Order: sequence, then C-alpha cells, then structure tokens
Amino acid sequence: MSALEIVNRDPASQARTGRLKLARGTVRTPAFVPLATKGSVKSLTPDDVTGLGFDMVLGNTFHLMLSPGPERVKDFGGLAEFMRWPGPVITDSGGFQVFSMGHGTVADEVKGRRSKPEASQGQGRILAIEEQGVRFRSYVDGSEMFMGPETSMEIQAALGSDIALVFDECTPFHVTRDYTARSTERTHRWLDRCLEWHSANGPQEQLVYSIVQGGVYEDLRRESAAAVASRATGGIAIGGSLGADKAQMYEVVSWATDELDRTAGERPRHLLGIGEVDDLIRGVELGIDTFDCAMPTRLARHGTAMAPRPEKRWRLDLTHATGRDDHGPLVEGCECPCCAAGFSRAYLHYLVKAREFTVMRLLTLHNLYFVVKLMERLRLAIDEGDLPAVAAALRAGAAPWEA
Ligand SMILES: [Zn+2]
Repeated sequence: MSALEIVNRDPASQARTGRLKLARGTVRTPAFVPLATKGSVKSLTPDDVTGLGFDMVLGNTFHLMLSPGPERVKDFGGLAEFMRWPGPVITDSGGFQVFSMGHGTVADEVKGRRSKPEASQGQGRILAIEEQGVRFRSYVDGSEMFMGPETSMEIQAALGSDIALVFDECTPFHVTRDYTARSTERTHRWLDRCLEWHSANGPQEQLVYSIVQGGVYEDLRRESAAAVASRATGGIAIGGSLGADKAQMYEVVSWATDELDRTAGERPRHLLGIGEVDDLIRGVELGIDTFDCAMPTRLARHGTAMAPRPEKRWRLDLTHATGRDDHGPLVEGCECPCCAAGFSRAYLHYLVKAREFTVMRLLTLHNLYFVVKLMERLRLAIDEGDLPAVAAALRAGAAPWEA
C-alpha cells in the first residue's frame, strides 16, 4: 500500500493533492521541503519552520556523515530528535554531494545550466568511482572516505529519517550518452543493494525512495523510470541532469512521470533540487508530490527576496541601490513575519549592505513563506478544480495570496 493517499486529481494535467503518511506525521502534498542541510534550516528554529506551514525538512547525509557523524546523531535518537524538529524528515543519499566533487562543485552545473568539458570528470576530490562505491577526500579534514550503497543506507538508518533516498550517481549534463547509460545501469544495481541492506537492517518505519536517472536521453529516462518502478520501494525520486534549460527540464521530467503514471501505481514522487516558482508550478502539473531546493534559503542569505516578478525570475535583489530610499514593504500584501513587522525595503537594503545576520533570518522567513503560500495555493486550486486558471495567474505574476 502506498504511503501517499491521493485526495484529488486535476483533470487537465497529472497534478494531484494528497496526504503522505510518514512515521513522524503527515505531509500535505504537493509540498516544498526546506533544506536543513547540516541539521538546521539556516537562521530559523523548528518553531519558525512549522509556524510558516511546512510539514517536513530535508537533512543532508553527506554533510552529517562528516560532522557531527551518524553515531553522535543516533545517540540522540536520530536527526529529528537531535535538531528538535517535531515532524517528518527526508534524508538524501549523499550521492549528489559525493559526485558533485568529481563532476564540478556547482549544483547548477550538475543540473545542466552550465556546460563543462568532458575532461573535468574525475577531478575534484573524488579518488575513484568503483562498482563497490566511491572513494573521496573529506572536505573537513582531508581524510580518505568511502561511500557506497550500504554505507549510505546505514548512515540514513542512524539518522532515523522518515524517508531515505537510495545511493545513486548523479550524472551531470556534460557527460556522454554512453557514460550516462553505464552510470544509470550501475545506479540500478546500487538500488538493489540499498534495498537488500535496508530489508535486512533498516528501520521498518523508514520509507525508501529509489531514484530515476538517465540524463537527458528519453530512452534512458524511460528505461530508468520503468526499472525503478519495478522495485518495491516506498516512493520514487527524479534526479540527475534535467537538461540545459527549462523547456528541456520539463520534457525530461515528463518522460519520467509519464512512465511512472503507467508503472509505479500511486507511490509518491519527489523531484530533487528544483524550486524556482515556475518550475514548482510545472512540476506540480507533471504530478510531482514533493520538492526540495536550496534556492529560497540560499537567495535569502545573499540578499535576494522572492517576489511576484516573473520577468525577474520572481526575485528582488536588495543589494541594488534602487531600494535605498524605498519606504514601501518588501512585497505588498505579504503577511510573512518580516513583512508583517513593517520593515521597509530601505531598512532591509541597509541591513544587507551592512551584512547584519538579522536580515538573513528575515529574508529566509519571507522566501520560505512565499514558497509555502505558493504550494498552498496550488493544492487549493487542485482541490477546487481550477488549477489551469490559478497556474496561469501565478505565471503572469500574481502573488500566491492574490491568485
Ligand atoms: Zn514577506
């Protein structure tokens, strides 16, 4: 039986609302999952995050393995207990971070937004990619480390997450079709090893999600989707390079979800590392249930607010001097803790320039509020049967609370 109970479906697309029932609670879907990479949503407390309306956070296996280490977290009863987060937690497998070291360190590059020559493969701090797993150097102390399917599952078992992701190779955009094909096959073999380890040793209540790879090649994506759907996992994630631009990204995701519609039953689907406003809208239409992305929180820490400005990729850069004398609010009509407190753009611009910690927190609250309201609006639209009109209004620049 699927952990996802589908509540309503949009007749015009693959979108659905649901309730994802996990060990520590229920996630209302479609949902955005904020990153608690190293065990905190940077600058916020768990109360802040639940107060905004989020049901689940994502912890990072790779970073938590290096520090504070899985044994220390386990000793406190798992990541949720360690960080005092009252709800469900998803952990990624660490594959993305491990492979980012070899395929180029910038996440955008792995998502295919910047091309790199083939020669960059194997550089960075990966020492070897082998059938058994990956050997690499720790960025913390330079020591040699190893991660393979069993290691990743063992760490995620110690972290005690509600959802564990299988260990995969996150293939970047610039590799060849042949490399992608071989890597995808190895990812499927690693999937079986992850499932074997988990069925023998993993926490019973922990759901395991497989990951669809296959790069930007339609046959490989479809084969990978069918292959992972054929394994008994709790859910399915879509990862790897999704293309060079948004049009290609949507096409690549649609190949996977189209295949999953036919073969995966009603299992929940997670789209890895995608979180721009238009991408969330399209992802929901393609039948994605959960998303995670560093973008809203990372932008906040760099002085950029999310705003209903599609022509500016829904961004308002507060480092620009144009806001210096602006008495107006950050975003008109926003009721986030930052906007509700009445802070002017001028004050926030000044705090950004002065590098005050407070503004990182204020903008993080605002950006996550913007995203949580967007997801709430999309869920309501699906439930009320007017997703096409609401999606069009949001794409045209309506704020989530106006659309
Ligand atoms: Zn706000």
